[in-house]
Amino acid sequence: MGYPHALTRVEGRVAIRNGAWEVTAAGAASYSNQNLFAVRTNVTNAEKTIFKKIIDGEIPADIVYQDEHCLAFNDIAPQAPIHVLVIPKKEIEHLDAISAEDAFLAAHLFTVIQKVTRDLGVNHSYRLISNCGAAAGQTVPHLHFHILAGRNLQWPPG
Ligand code: 5GP
Repeated sequence: MGYPHALTRVEGRVAIRNGAWEVTAAGAASYSNQNLFAVRTNVTNAEKTIFKKIIDGEIPADIVYQDEHCLAFNDIAPQAPIHVLVIPKKEIEHLDAISAEDAFLAAHLFTVIQKVTRDLGVNHSYRLISNCGAAAGQTVPHLHFHILAGRNLQWPPG
């Protein structure tokens, strides 16, 4: 009888969780990588970014603010007396990956940036940077805003 589903095209709702996937097809038949042993799946647990590990509490950070949607913490290699990173808890790779469904989150991040700069006493006197892509200097593929303050900042940046 061989592998009855190996060459079957299946359309339906897909759920992926912790590397396991399941398709619930029209008619309620259900297929998953638990019972479709003949199927090779490319679904893997991608390596977490350093920021995702901070969000998940797996590595420590000097957190200055957090709420349900975002986190602000001191940069490990500060480029100014005040160097805080503000990140969404949602995994968004960079500025270009923000979509319309993130409208609330995007606005909220700016509200948090205002609060953090006020709390640090540097409102009206800081620089906000988000490097988008490696050529722009992005090294961590998780959207983040650098708040730099506490010294005179030159322009243009390097
Ligand atoms: P990017 O170069 O992507 O714009 O900024 C990444 C920032 O993350 C850098 O300023 C870097 O110093 C900071 N960073 C990298 N790893 C860690 C870490 O483990 N903890 C903290 N607090 N900051 C980090």
